[in-house]
Amino acid sequence: MINLPELFGSMAFNETVMRERLPMEAYKALKNTMKKGVRMDMATANIVANAMKDWAIEKGVTHYTHWFQPLSGITAEKHDGFISPCAGGGIIMEFSGKALIKGESDASSFPSGGLRATFEARGYTSWDPTSYAFIKDGVLCIPTAFCSFSGEALDTKTPLLRSMEALNTQTKRILKLFGNECGRVFSTSGLEQEYFLIDRSTYNQRNDLIYTGRTLFGARPPKGQELDDHYFGSIKIRVSAFMKELNEELWKLGVLAKTEHNESAPAQHELAPIFTTSNIAVDHNQLTMEIMRKVAKRHDLTCLLHEKPFAGINGSGKHNNWAISTDDGTNLLESGETPEENAQFLLIVCAVIKAVDEYQDLLRISAASCGNDHRLGGNEAPPSIISVFLGDELSAILDAIKDGTVYDKKESGSITVGVDALPAFPRDTTDRNRTSPFAFTGNKFEFRMPGSSMSAASSTTFINTIVAESFRQFADKLENASDFTAELNELIRETIKKHERIIFNGNGYDEAWVKLAESRGLSNYITTADCMPHLTDEKNIKLFERHGIYSEKELFARRDILLESYCKQVKIEALVMIEMVRRDIIPSVIPYEKTLADAIIAMKTVSKDLNCRTETALLKQVSELLEQVSDCCDSLEKSVAGICTQPSELHDSLRSCNDVVLRDMQNLRTVTDRLETLVGKDIWPYPSYGRLLYRV
Ligand code: ADP
Ligand code: MG
Repeated sequence: MINLPELFGSMAFNETVMRERLPMEAYKALKNTMKKGVRMDMATANIVANAMKDWAIEKGVTHYTHWFQPLSGITAEKHDGFISPCAGGGIIMEFSGKALIKGESDASSFPSGGLRATFEARGYTSWDPTSYAFIKDGVLCIPTAFCSFSGEALDTKTPLLRSMEALNTQTKRILKLFGNECGRVFSTSGLEQEYFLIDRSTYNQRNDLIYTGRTLFGARPPKGQELDDHYFGSIKIRVSAFMKELNEELWKLGVLAKTEHNESAPAQHELAPIFTTSNIAVDHNQLTMEIMRKVAKRHDLTCLLHEKPFAGINGSGKHNNWAISTDDGTNLLESGETPEENAQFLLIVCAVIKAVDEYQDLLRISAASCGNDHRLGGNEAPPSIISVFLGDELSAILDAIKDGTVYDKKESGSITVGVDALPAFPRDTTDRNRTSPFAFTGNKFEFRMPGSSMSAASSTTFINTIVAESFRQFADKLENASDFTAELNELIRETIKKHERIIFNGNGYDEAWVKLAESRGLSNYITTADCMPHLTDEKNIKLFERHGIYSEKELFARRDILLESYCKQVKIEALVMIEMVRRDIIPSVIPYEKTLADAIIAMKTVSKDLNCRTETALLKQVSELLEQVSDCCDSLEKSVAGICTQPSELHDSLRSCNDVVLRDMQNLRTVTDRLETLVGKDIWPYPSYGRLLYRV
């Protein structure tokens, strides 16, 4: 039996360890830095660094690393030993405050979108004391932010921290209006992580999975997820052993892994941690993905985090549950008991509605990637139109306020609703709506669009920023109000009227919604190519600059990095398909044709009367399909040759990838998948969908 309370956080330099190991003065200084962002002096940094080192060495650690999250979306680390020579030829183990606070590394191979000229390759990492240091694979990892020599953010964490600061500033202005003071406000995130687990030996037989993380070919198996028998089903022994070890690894690091279950598609699962402060939640999610991959290997499994590893069944998302909390633990998205509390709650909900409506494009962009394009609008994923689900109760209350009509609630009778006479809201009476991209779920919003493999940093950064902007505008109005209640009433009413088009409680998968959304003037960016160029629209540059999240330069750089990575990924996928066809599929099918032809000849030799109808028809079909496969492959080869990922060509390449390359890939896949169903199992060079999905 594991002793969970003892195991939990045993590899994290957390609150308990800090208290135990730091002198009171240093502990207080560190807490001050963590809570209020107060700069730490070098003497204290030295004490903290030394305590971290001693703690780590006791656990067998020899190296440390600044752990950061470059714009490639994954994490990066470069290990340095504690080892340091001393007089007499011996060594001491050393870790200074300077090394803790700041690291300098050659950053030339990380994407910078032109922010860092190649001759100025230096990048700096700086300690994020709000996220605990931890030990991973015998290395002390210091969570850090990553910047260029001239101070521009080269990572996903810096903008996230900046957005938390903006949200803190603007939310406190709103709270003050209601007579509420608090130390700090921050966003909280609960990141549900979906993933697939498949057998490692079958994975190793497929170049598409190895190179791109998804299957580029594969005929549909006779059974997909139509019976819905996997969702919440009993967990297979091998998967269960994986989950057990995964949980233990995560708990050691202080990750609050809580819920695990089978998801809708065969071989698909989910892990949900308990929510925490957003930047920590994002760090923990990055660790979770890394450890999922590692632990899977130990069980001869492969963990697929791609958004759409298999056609025809659900893809994987990373649901971003988002709320705002004060440092005394109050969730500001929790409706209250009194009309005053509820007035504040309603204003906050209105701010979110306004934010989502005004920045639909940004939310869509925060979930856009090459992989996620295959998922959004697919089976279970939300459609690419952004809307907000509020549930019947909250919608009815907002309607009543807007129209100045009577709100009829069974228990409390009818009341005329205004912010001075708000009903106590019943909690969580809403039906769960699984088709909405942005759903209010009782005391938090759940943004369901982000893809499983993406860092949650950018969606969280964007949500924080757009809500901070609504708060800013609200506070500007209300701070100067002569009659607060009247103006508050008016502001809420006005906001609902102006932005109600974004509220949609119906079925987001319904065809009719697309038309309705269009008539409401909502945007519908189907793919990355459609939405990404809007990242640098004037209004977005202004927004991010105003709140100090991205400078104009940083925003352009980010956009270019995303575009470049998109084009490169499409290109790689196309090249992998071409290689698979030319080097594996065609060479496997030709001998099969020969076998058929030989059989026909042999049969005819035995007797002219033998009927070779099946063999002849099959040979005809196979040879015709093989020709089509070859032709489609030629077309794809031509179209992919035109893709250039140089910065000046990015916008053209983006469109060609989206309009031409992906279309040609689909054409090639269609004929190849048809061919797969015609040839014998032993002939086809790759394990089938059936084997991939059902053999764990
Ligand atoms: P479901 O699958 O029904 O959406 P889960 O229990 O799988 O629900 O996931 C809900 C997630 O929302 C969990 O990670 C949970 O910790 C998180 N969550 C709950 N309250 C908050 C909050 N105030 N802020 C952010 N996330 C929250
Ligand atoms: Mg869930």
